[in-house]
Amino acid sequence: MNSLGIYIHIPFCIRKCLYCDFLSFPKGRAQQALYFDALEKEILVAAEDCREYEVHSVFFGGGTPTSVEPECIVRIMNVLRDNFQIKNDAEITMECNPGTADYEALKKYREAGINRLSIGLQSANDEELKRLGRIHDRSMFEDCYKNAVKAGFENINVDLMSALPGQSLEAWEDNLRYVCDLEPAPQHISAYSLIIEEGTSFYEMYGDDSEGNSIDYASHVQAGSRDDCRLPLPDEDTERKMYHRTEEILSAHGYHRYEISNYSGNGKECSHNLRYWQGGDYLGVGLGAASLMKGERFHNTSDFERYIEVLGNALPDKADGDNDRVQLLSDIREDIEKLDEKAKMEEFMFLGLRLTEGVSASEFKDRFGIGIGEVYGDVIEDLREKELLEWEGDMIRLSYAGLDVSNYCMAEFLF
Ligand code: SF4
Repeated sequence: MNSLGIYIHIPFCIRKCLYCDFLSFPKGRAQQALYFDALEKEILVAAEDCREYEVHSVFFGGGTPTSVEPECIVRIMNVLRDNFQIKNDAEITMECNPGTADYEALKKYREAGINRLSIGLQSANDEELKRLGRIHDRSMFEDCYKNAVKAGFENINVDLMSALPGQSLEAWEDNLRYVCDLEPAPQHISAYSLIIEEGTSFYEMYGDDSEGNSIDYASHVQAGSRDDCRLPLPDEDTERKMYHRTEEILSAHGYHRYEISNYSGNGKECSHNLRYWQGGDYLGVGLGAASLMKGERFHNTSDFERYIEVLGNALPDKADGDNDRVQLLSDIREDIEKLDEKAKMEEFMFLGLRLTEGVSASEFKDRFGIGIGEVYGDVIEDLREKELLEWEGDMIRLSYAGLDVSNYCMAEFLF
């Protein structure tokens, strides 16, 4: 059977963080209930297209999946189990924000079969958390972490974010050590740099000058905003040092970097995310969720009202006629793109080079029927000369220096 990952988008958050450009917003319980009705219908209808698949991973992301009633998530887990062939040892992850899940809730998630928790800490420093507009402080994270362990989670990721306003290299190192010293230690740590995205509150404060310390500080000060919201971003040099120290500190604590920003203990890599980087099929359900299935990329509408309306008007029974089913899915899916061979090669390289193990030349040949050197020989040679890329045996990977400028390197593989 073919292998599939399922992503489920829960777009609700208690409050918008100042840096966030994810598809997320606060909504009352009544709107949430309508959403879960619609989501259930989408799953029922989409499952019909997935009979030849076995599900190897499920990922509840958002938004804040733990901000809704736990019963909503339990219900979706039951719908998934009833309609998909889920592998016995499938990795089932849920994102969780401190302050939104107590012990009772975490126990329910664990009993429902969720076996991996990804906790958004972002910083262990209360001042930094305030500057990000997070709803929690460090002690709330500690309660959440302890409760997750007590509830039986043995596979926990902690998210951290570097290059925050006003953050020094030492403060970032403290955050890393804090997470490594948790008892028991988390199995996985994601460490991303803050990126100032358009449309966020931070963008209004910092503009698109997220590159260094040349911010015209005064011009970004908004009348009435808190002083601590206006601290300058670390300069590029400090940001680079933060990236290097991340690898040094985490590897000294037994974590290995397997992707540009992801670190794990042995065998604890996130298999759902590996699927994205390795070009495996995945189905995204819920508002705005993206999919890659059977050589097609598409995503769902990001329009909450439309999503509810289209699915709300549909019959709940999956025995709807095939035509109705296809129509329903095409009413919520957008930008359907059939990937041609060139697009598939680009993705193979662009995504695969995010992984520290790199891409396999023989797999490239198996997939595309042509040698990787015949297609990308010049690019590979150029990057090797610059010592940004290594070719060792069957594997082609970014060097340590190449990982530093990964966006540049990966862009070279676009036609
Ligand atoms: S909790 Fe996550 S998804 Fe929600 S607003 Fe904050 S960053 Fe965005």
